[in-house]
Amino acid sequence: MRQIWLRVSTVQDESGLTIAYVAVMTDRTRQLATDQAIRLLESQDPLTLLPNRRLFMESLETHLADIQGQPGVSGAVLFLDLDGFQVINDVAGHQVGDQLLREVGNRLSHVAQGNALVARLGGDEFGFLLTTAHLIGDTAEQATKVAMDCLAAVNKRMDLDGSQNVTASVGVTLTSHKDTVVDVIRRADFAVYAAKSAGRNTFRFFDAQSQANLVHRSQLMADLRNAVQLNQFVVWYQPQVTDEGRWVGMEALVRWQHPVHGLIPPATFIPLAEESGVIYQLGRWVLRTACQQLVAWSADPQRELLTVSVNVSGRELQQADYVERVVEILQSTGVNPLWLKLELTESMFVGDIDGIIEKMQALRAQGIGLSVDDFGTGYSSLSYLRRLPIDEIKLDKSFLDGALANPKAAALVKSIISVGLDMGLQVVAEGVETVAERNFLKANGCREFQGYLFGRPGPADQAAPAFTVLTDTSAFRQDTQQPAVQGVSSSTSGQLAQR
Ligand code: C2E
Ligand code: CA
Ligand code: CA
Repeated sequence: MRQIWLRVSTVQDESGLTIAYVAVMTDRTRQLATDQAIRLLESQDPLTLLPNRRLFMESLETHLADIQGQPGVSGAVLFLDLDGFQVINDVAGHQVGDQLLREVGNRLSHVAQGNALVARLGGDEFGFLLTTAHLIGDTAEQATKVAMDCLAAVNKRMDLDGSQNVTASVGVTLTSHKDTVVDVIRRADFAVYAAKSAGRNTFRFFDAQSQANLVHRSQLMADLRNAVQLNQFVVWYQPQVTDEGRWVGMEALVRWQHPVHGLIPPATFIPLAEESGVIYQLGRWVLRTACQQLVAWSADPQRELLTVSVNVSGRELQQADYVERVVEILQSTGVNPLWLKLELTESMFVGDIDGIIEKMQALRAQGIGLSVDDFGTGYSSLSYLRRLPIDEIKLDKSFLDGALANPKAAALVKSIISVGLDMGLQVVAEGVETVAERNFLKANGCREFQGYLFGRPGPADQAAPAFTVLTDTSAFRQDTQQPAVQGVSSSTSGQLAQR
């Protein structure tokens, strides 16, 4: 169809009288076609022929303006990102990559038909907008259906030269009357990230809590990198006592004094330190600090006979030069290694087990005691213990928790203690909180305890056993009337003789 424009103007003489009409006819067909082409180019993705990012954003803006001031009315935005597209592009070539994107675009436009606006946002990312015009019934339900249909559509076999099956991750967020475009995009992006983290080929709705957690976590991770230099760590100590109430040792437990978040427990930051590699620096700092403390205590008549146990992370032990670094710390602090114990966990005894045993032997040759922490939680068989050069096992608190109420749990605790004793190992029970627990452990041969019953972790100058809590047991009556120190010497020298 041709588009002809007619413009008519009048011609007037000096007195204002119309003396003629001029008609100009213009054929605008071509001009309009060009305009239309330009508009299309500005709003269409040339590869998939879907709407492009620009049109998607404009539509989103219009949608948000429409629902503004209407609490309770919402639409939905879905972002879809192909999993591992970069690899396909690199391995199979860009042509296959383009073919794949076109096919995905095709399938997604079928999913969207009548339900949503679908656009290619760039790269391998597609977006869906469900506005009030698309919605009948529950928005979240409908968005879920679109998300699932998308996953299924992408999953269906593609017959492209050389490319494998493809999957996608989808993030969903609902829009609300208070949203800006930036809010919605940020939430949808995060939801995609959450779907990827959940293992890909799945969809996730935006969740404020998990985003807050993630932001907090990455902030902590960044802060952690400088925390050693900034001197933000402190080592606290928790007493270890014998069945006779003698104070024989301390476990060094690190804390992070964060300038904003206050005292952060190791369960929060040790995994971050392991992930980021900060653990090497931190582990050395803890060991050096604990050794310096040991040296200081060796000049303190009340604490000169205490051992100090230091936790070692799996990644530290894996370092080729771990033993050399420990020896360097022993030498530079001048500590007596006989008073030092290192706590390892079962999870470290995998992989190059011979190499690990070699390192353990080298540490022991220095005089350091070796302990297996959280013993029993590693799901490994007890028989592997025989191969390990160790002095001590620490019975994990989780075994103790049900032991008094549950005969099966009690039997397990008994058997772990007896395996340890049979092998000539020291058995230390962790997390002892009640007198009943302590009595049960003692009755089954356990001779050393650590737990809130005897004292919580505290700063070096404050941590000491709280024997007063035991006044209600006859077994401890004697100890409660004496200062803890008096009993120390005999037990610790006994322990040393054992080594
Ligand atoms: P862990 O080595 O098993 O340490 C014992 C944990 O149990 C400590 O928690 C201690 O405060 C807590 N605890 C002690 N007695 C009781 C009790 O009676 N009841 C209860 N409910 N809990 C008790 P903390 O200090 O929060 O340390 C947690 C974990 O962080 C430690 O578990 C250890 O695996 C790790 N960790 C601590 N310091 C270091 C360190 O310097 N290096 C490394 N690599 N890990 C560390
Ligand atoms: Ca420990
Ligand atoms: Ca433990």
